[in-house]
Amino acid sequence: MKKGICITPKEMGEGLTESLRAEGITLVILRPEAEEGSVLGLEWLCRDVKFGRYHQPMLELKNAGIEVEYGAHTASSFLPRAFFGVHPYWFRMNERGERTADANFCPSAREAMEYISWRAGSVGATLHSTDHRYHFWPDADAGAICHCPACRHLTPAEQRMIYARAVLRGLRERDPKAEVCYPVFEDDTTLPRQREEGIFLSCTAKALKKHGDALLARFQPERVHVTETDESFFREWTEPSFYSVVVERSEP
Ligand SMILES: [Zn+2]
Repeated sequence: MKKGICITPKEMGEGLTESLRAEGITLVILRPEAEEGSVLGLEWLCRDVKFGRYHQPMLELKNAGIEVEYGAHTASSFLPRAFFGVHPYWFRMNERGERTADANFCPSAREAMEYISWRAGSVGATLHSTDHRYHFWPDADAGAICHCPACRHLTPAEQRMIYARAVLRGLRERDPKAEVCYPVFEDDTTLPRQREEGIFLSCTAKALKKHGDALLARFQPERVHVTETDESFFREWTEPSFYSVVVERSEP
């Protein structure tokens, strides 16, 4: 079992490694700050990593044996909403039959998925997860799926899985060992049909409890990534952005 924490770049300061070691943490998931629906959060994180802004703390983490993974809601970054004017068919159709760039994408739009793959690959080329695991999520709104004639037969889970596969394809062009998460939320009404190589389950402890064995049967149990909120965890820290303690299951 691995114990980890989600942090943002502003926590990559002096003393980080010592604090993590004191808590027995061996995994850091670095997420951009203002990333909800924003392209720039992820872009700026890429820029800062590329230009070595976190070189020293990264080196300290590495020397302490602490893994660094990256996570973000990536739909708006991997498929910029500004494309809507030129490629409306790359975006989802809502229940009223209108194309909209409000969230996510049209999973049946082959070029859109190719673009998402390419973007994921270029981001992955800068943000190297030290253990090859990436938490690149689509938009979390479970209702934001595509209702176009080509997608209508796809369940929300199948639409989300198409995104995970596209992201994985792109990441693997640069990192053949890359794995990407498939997020499951408590209010999900559908689950993936089967296990898929390179795709691991990411969910909260509550979601895992709610979906139970049905969920674990669809993913490799030893690769499951569970997050649990613990507000007392970093009580000594000033203004932490995330309080999530991550627990990675090592047993079925
Ligand atoms: Zn569609």
